[in-house]
Amino acid sequence: MARSKLFQNTTGIASVAQPEFDAVVVGAGPNGLAAAARIAKAGGKVLVLEANAEIGGGVRSFDHNGYRHDSCSTIHSLPAIAPPLELLGLVDGQDSPVQGRHRASATIRWAHFPIELAHPLPDGDSAFLYRDVRQTAEGLGQDARRYQRLIGGLVDRWDHLASDVLTPMVSIPRHPVSLARFGLPALLPAAAGLRRLFVTEQARALLGGNAAHSYVALNKPLTMAFGLMLQIGGHVGGWPVAAGGSSTIASGLASVITSNGGTIETSSRVTNMAKLPSHRTLFLDTTPAVALSISGLDLPWHRNRAYRNFGHGAAAFKVDFELSGPIPWADPQISQAGTVHLVGRFDELVAAESTVASGRMPDRPFVLAVQACVADPQRAPSGHHTLWTYAHVPSGFAGDALPHIEGQLDRFAPGWRDLVVHRHVTTPAALETGNANFAGGDIGGGSYGGLQSVARPTFGPHPYRTGAPGVYLCSASTPPGAGAHGMGGWNAVADALKRELRHLT
Ligand SMILES: Cc1cc2nc3c(=O)[nH]c(=O)nc-3n(C[C@H](O)[C@H](O)[C@H](O)COP(=O)(O)OP(=O)(O)OC[C@H]3O[C@@H](n4cnc5c(N)ncnc54)[C@H](O)[C@@H]3O)c2cc1C
Repeated sequence: MARSKLFQNTTGIASVAQPEFDAVVVGAGPNGLAAAARIAKAGGKVLVLEANAEIGGGVRSFDHNGYRHDSCSTIHSLPAIAPPLELLGLVDGQDSPVQGRHRASATIRWAHFPIELAHPLPDGDSAFLYRDVRQTAEGLGQDARRYQRLIGGLVDRWDHLASDVLTPMVSIPRHPVSLARFGLPALLPAAAGLRRLFVTEQARALLGGNAAHSYVALNKPLTMAFGLMLQIGGHVGGWPVAAGGSSTIASGLASVITSNGGTIETSSRVTNMAKLPSHRTLFLDTTPAVALSISGLDLPWHRNRAYRNFGHGAAAFKVDFELSGPIPWADPQISQAGTVHLVGRFDELVAAESTVASGRMPDRPFVLAVQACVADPQRAPSGHHTLWTYAHVPSGFAGDALPHIEGQLDRFAPGWRDLVVHRHVTTPAALETGNANFAGGDIGGGSYGGLQSVARPTFGPHPYRTGAPGVYLCSASTPPGAGAHGMGGWNAVADALKRELRHLT
């Protein structure tokens, strides 16, 4: 719609005046900020409203006694290879190919690890993911050639694959051959697929741990897709942390917004459409449930029903440790890894994930640990370390998973407890209190089980459209899902730029 024509904003109130904003964005997580940054850079007038006193959502950091911790997201595999941060010129060492009004100075530096991921096994052996495909394959014994063929082949095709896997699933594939090569094994349940594809415990455990990032029982279809994506991501862009903390991702995106004339207001929870200033478009960086709680947002009945039925996944129980030294891993090579998957053998992983999916707490849950100081020593006083951990626990788990996390560390790093200076515990309830999107402690923006892995939150080529004129959903509840990559916001704006925001460059 041309600027001079009658404007009907998304509150439904007709007006002849110019809308005050091209876009109002609800929520300053990475998706909301990426959406706002893209619009501001294209010349649009943007307002971001964030419920918390601080921006960032899942990309915040906090300081305690000289240690710097990431409150939520810490390892940035997809963010390092997805386009938004790079296209906005935020990543150190990369020039922005996007011509915008004002260039933000780079604020994000990826700090890389000698080893991306380690998976210790109970017999003292470990599996490792290196940036290099061949080096990874060589550690997988009898599976070396199979790994090289399957994963190496997909890594070689990443440039083709990226455009199809980072956009809504229901769109015409740009590179059908590459997508089929990825998609056929990706359809499999990881439990059966990995047993069929690989014979070694190392290969099964390594890819199985990545598949478990789906938070779905590994005997369910499509769980292989997560294993493959994260494994490919490790080879294409590594599994880095953001030097100085994940909050640099939020501050970088915010600098693009404000340096291009946009406004960000914190401590501003949106609960009522009528209280919003006039706008052409509204972007909701929220779950479908939070969107439905905003009064005056009238969605067509079929969207309303889909949003009401959108289910949440299992939860995270997070503990951040402050340590007086590096973890004394039984396998000393693990001290070079960024991420460590603590669960043991592949069958232990499959059992633990099934137990969580059925709503029960396993004795030995899947625990993810990140030793950021290996790549980013400024996060702790000299010689000291941080250890970021969380365990997969059932949705809304009200118990204490600290002993479970510490128990898994005991198995693979005896004596580590002597180093503990301080522990910060974040329960699933605390995650939800801090961010309405993390319902019941679900950090994925909704379950990836069943149809929800492709219908996020609705099935079709336009998952970002809510059905209300000019209103888009852009959070991790939309494709491509969870992660601090900003792709949901980026893709939602691409849709709006063809519709209500056509006047922007
Ligand atoms: C413990 C934990 C570990 C994680 N680890 C990783 C990791 O290592 N790597 C990775 O890539 N990802 C990780 N994630 C996931 C990642 O953080 C999320 O997928 C990502 O932050 C989702 O971004 P988003 O913009 O969709 O939403 P969010 O980051 O959830 O941001 C949404 C924002 O909207 C605000 N909001 C909600 N409702 C309203 C309202 N009504 N009005 C105004 N504001 C509102 C919230 O306060 C929040 O700031 C982790 C998450 C958690 C919690």
